[in-house]
Amino acid sequence: MPKLVSKNLMEELVDMTLDSFMKEVGVCACPQCRADVRAYALNHLPPKYVVSTGGGIFVRVNALTTQAQADIASAIMSGIRVVEESPRHKKEDMEAAH
Ligand SMILES: [Zn+2]
Repeated sequence: MPKLVSKNLMEELVDMTLDSFMKEVGVCACPQCRADVRAYALNHLPPKYVVSTGGGIFVRVNALTTQAQADIASAIMSGIRVVEESPRHKKEDMEAAH
């Protein structure tokens, strides 16, 4: 009997989209900011749980509706704006790190 786990597909989809968006916008993409944008987006998207047997889930982005893709893009963009305006770390911290 394989181990069955429920997994939020939305997390996979956000992960797949997040990095290219942040790079495109040119926002700080340190682990802290990335995690904040990810959390913001996921809080504004409906969860989409699927049951997996523990192996990888093959996410078919093409199977997503255009509306779902637009919603994911919009939630990530909002998250980027929020984090861009008030990053959790101070600017001085970043400069000191360089
Ligand atoms: Zn940052």
